[in-house]
Parts: sequence; C-alpha cells; structure tokens
Amino acid sequence: MIARDGACVSLWQDSVTAFEPQNNSAETNFDVAIAGGGITGITTALLLQKAGKKCIVFEAYNLCFGTTGGTTAHLNTLLDNPYSTIIKNFGKENAQLVAQACKNAIELVKSNIDEYNIDCGFENASAYLFAQTDKQVKELKDIHDACREVNVKALYTNKLPVDIEYKKVMVVDGQAKFHPVKYVHALAKAFEDAGGVILQECRVEDVEENNSVQIATTKGNFQANVLIYATHIPPGVNLLHLRCAPYRSYAMAVTLKNKNYPADLIYDMYDPYHYIRSQKINNKTYLIVGAEDHKTGHVENTNECFLKLEAYLRKYFDVDEVVNKWSSQYFEPADTLPYIGHLPGHDGNILVASGYGGNGITYSHVAAVTLRDIVSNKDNPLIKLFDPNRIKPVAGFVSFISHNADVVKQFIGKWFEHEKLKELADLAAGEGKVVKYEGETIALYKDENGGLHALNPVCTHLKCSVAFNVAEQTWDCPCHGARYNTNGFVVTGPASMGLENIEVKELVK
Ligand SMILES: Cc1cc2nc3c(=O)[nH]c(=O)nc-3n(C[C@H](O)[C@H](O)[C@H](O)COP(=O)(O)OP(=O)(O)OC[C@H]3O[C@@H](n4cnc5c(N)ncnc54)[C@H](O)[C@@H]3O)c2cc1C
Repeated sequence: MIARDGACVSLWQDSVTAFEPQNNSAETNFDVAIAGGGITGITTALLLQKAGKKCIVFEAYNLCFGTTGGTTAHLNTLLDNPYSTIIKNFGKENAQLVAQACKNAIELVKSNIDEYNIDCGFENASAYLFAQTDKQVKELKDIHDACREVNVKALYTNKLPVDIEYKKVMVVDGQAKFHPVKYVHALAKAFEDAGGVILQECRVEDVEENNSVQIATTKGNFQANVLIYATHIPPGVNLLHLRCAPYRSYAMAVTLKNKNYPADLIYDMYDPYHYIRSQKINNKTYLIVGAEDHKTGHVENTNECFLKLEAYLRKYFDVDEVVNKWSSQYFEPADTLPYIGHLPGHDGNILVASGYGGNGITYSHVAAVTLRDIVSNKDNPLIKLFDPNRIKPVAGFVSFISHNADVVKQFIGKWFEHEKLKELADLAAGEGKVVKYEGETIALYKDENGGLHALNPVCTHLKCSVAFNVAEQTWDCPCHGARYNTNGFVVTGPASMGLENIEVKELVK
C-alpha cells in the first residue's frame, strides 16, 4: 500500500507496494528538474530522459500520492468538456488537434506498455454515453455531431452494456483502461534505467530564476536549465490559480454477486455525471463507479457523497461488497483546455501542466509530449494551442475569479482556552469545523481520542478560509485547492506553508 493525499484508501493505492528509487546520485546539476511524481511528472521525465536530457524528479511524498493515486483511469478521446464547446472556444481545426493529441496519447500509453513490458491490466475499450431525458438526447446529438467533426468516430447504437434505462446511446471506440499506479511505477523504473533520478519525500520549496533555475528542496539545493511543475497545480501565486477551479470527485470499487462486470466505459449525462468501468487486479474483478463532483470545500458533509454514490450503485448493480471508496481533486480550466507550457509571469525556464479537468490521465501524455517538444525546441502545434499564457475571455471566466471572494481576515490570537473551545466545538471524534470565538475564526478538529486541535483557518496560499472534509480528514481551501492534514501540514495544492497552529491551553484549576 502507498500513501495518498486523503484518509480514504483507493483501489490503486491498496494494490501496490511502495516505489523504491534505485539511483542514488550526489549530482546537483541537471538539464531538467521535474516537481511532482504523478503520471504527468513521471511520463514527462521519461520522455525527456529518452530525448537525451539529464533529468531529476522531486516528489514531496511518494509517487502517485496526488490525484494519480485517486483517479479512475479511463483513457479517453471522448472528453468531459465536449468537442462542441472546444470548437466554439478554439475553432474546428484546433478541436481536431485536441482529438488527435488524445488519440496519440492513448497510443503512447500502449507503446510504453509494449516497450517496457508493463503489467498494468491495460485493456482497449469503447465508451458509451447515454441520454435519459429529452434534453439529454438533444445534448447527445450535439456531442455526436461535434465528435464526427473532429474525426472522433461516434456512432448511435441500440446497445448499452449495463442494465440502466436510456433514451439514446452513442458509442466511441478506441478508448482504454488500466491500473494507473502500476503503470506509473513501471515508467518510473524505466526512467531510472535510462539514467534518471527520483527523490521521494523531497518538496520543492523555493525557486529562483536567472539563466537557469536554482531550486531549494527539503533535500538540498539543485540547479537545472528548466524546471517543470507537474504538481497538478503550480505552487506559489500565479495567474493559473485564477484560471483553474478545484473540484472533488468520488469513486467506489465494488464486487458484484452476479459477476456481470461491463468491459467498456459507460457514462450518463447528468451534471455531475456517473462514470462506470471495471478493472481486473490479481485475478479479481472490481466495478468502479465515480460521480458526485462538487467544488472543493463546498459540501459540508462529504460522507454524504459516498452514501449517494452507494445508493446509485445498489440501484443498478448486484453489489456484493464495497471494497474501496475514495475521493480526489481535479482542476477545471476556465476555457475547457488544459494549460501546458511556460508558467505565466516567469522568464521561460519554468514550465507547467495543469487544468486537465477530469481527463488528466490522457492529457498527462499530451502534456509530456508537448513539454518534451518545448524543451527540445521542436515545432509542435500543440505548444501554441495549450499555451498557459493564452487569453481567452470566454463565458465562465468571471465566475472563476469570483471564487476568490471568500477571503477571510487574518487571525490575531495565538492560543485559546480548552474549556471554552469544548463548549464551542460540539464535535464528534473525527469531525472538524470552522468556529467563531470572540470575533475570531478557528479551524477545530477533534481526534479519535477526543483531543481538540486548533488551527488558523486562513489558507496560507491566498488567505481564503478552509473547510473540513470529513471523508478524507483534511482541511480544504475552496478557492484554489490547497489542502492540509489535521495537523495543518500541506498535503496538496498550491500552498507551500502549513496552517498556523493555535495552542489549546488547559486551565489550571
Ligand atoms: C476521482 C477522480 C477520477 C478521475 N478519473 C479520471 C479518468 O478516469 N480519466 C482521466 O483521464 N482523468 C481522470 N481524473 C483526472 C486525473 O486523475 C488527474 O488529472 C491526473 O491524475 C493528474 O496527474 P498529475 O500527475 O498531473 O498530478 P498528481 O497525480 O496530483 O501529481 C502531482 C504530484 O506532485 C507532488 N507535489 C506537489 N507539490 C510538490 C512540490 N512542491 N514539490 C514536489 N512535489 C510536489 C504531489 O505530492 C503529487 O504526487 C480523475 C480525477 C479524479 C479526482
């Protein structure tokens, strides 16, 4: 089992052992340094190392600690942000480029699996999208027509591989599924075999740019010609934090009594939609269903999301056992396409890949190819298309900025009286709440032994107020997705510093 950025255990983290780096190097000078050991960081590192660059990966915790360990790993050319919207925002030719890039990404996954003989349960699959209302039938037609415009071959069909009522169904071939952590671990080994270096438990803390990049990490100082932030969202304060909104999604892996596991990928059309697939791991098959997406920090009781998901599962499937349930975070871009390339506001030595929405497993490989070509000065039309510095004043952008309105004032006091807090808190074990105390706000958490833990709820990133995520036992920031554990340490997102601790004093009677 590997660690992940939440308390719930995903099917993937549960079915692997920890990655142990082999290359111990005292070298501090590299061509390319990559922060982040998820699918983006490791795939990009491998491609660059193979292109002749000397690369190092810094991972703050362990490989796949972030969303790659909490994904559901559908590989799609049928994207969440429909091609009809991409055509509207970027034009037909660019939408065709996106579709082709996603096809190539799936081919790259396949060729990596072949080249490195990776055992990760990869299977080709078709994607079924089904409409259940008249409105959805109309939307399905738009999606179908737009798919065909960008050469993604969508066909109407009369068959749906699960027993759920529908009005109309569309199918797209050429999709796939796999075990994402097994895949990333194998790519990481291939990267090391090619001479690359991986440092786990190594956080990038500070960066300075001159002609190269000086990188201060928790394991010492390094220098590289280029730094790539494959951290899902870049740390620090950046324009991209205004262009990406953090969302959470929920997943469950169950076994079925009737063993009727669908081989393909299946999606309904509600908002948020349900996404369904199966995976065989060590000779046992699981049905994996995801849904219940919401903006990070915007749902008070995140356990309810699991209850709703389980109710859906039990309505349509012959559930035997719920084996794993977990949630994770993704970043929705303001204008439907990811941001891959030069980090806005920097001199050109720092690159980034972010804003994948719910298609980051596929987009990670689009990013790896695009970033490799930027570093290698190779022409590639995707460089311009995904440029993070693009300005797209599209609908929705204003509301993204308004996410940032929820900024709270700085906390002043440094300690509180335990007895008074207890009265205020009224918390069950494992619960957390932001409470008011004499005009101040405190993030309070009660541990399993009844101990109270108090933190300053002001997110250290851009001073929004955090909210408690009871399912994953973290403090989540609704503005830009910084997340902290119950001791206040950063587990994910753009923050670099933990939440301030507030002393809880026992009164001497
Ligand atoms: C529930 C759910 C289901 C999903 N399902 C799908 C799907 O079916 N198909 C699909 O295509 N996409 C899916 N996605 C999206 C996809 O999983 C993600 O976009 C993708 O995993 C992101 O990978 P990444 O490597 O960019 O980021 P991550 O996997 O988040 O990796 C970033 C890494 O950077 C590290 N890090 C952060 N800061 C630092 C620092 N300062 N120094 C060093 N390291 C640092 C973190 O510890 C982390 O390990 C899903 C998302 C969710 C939430």
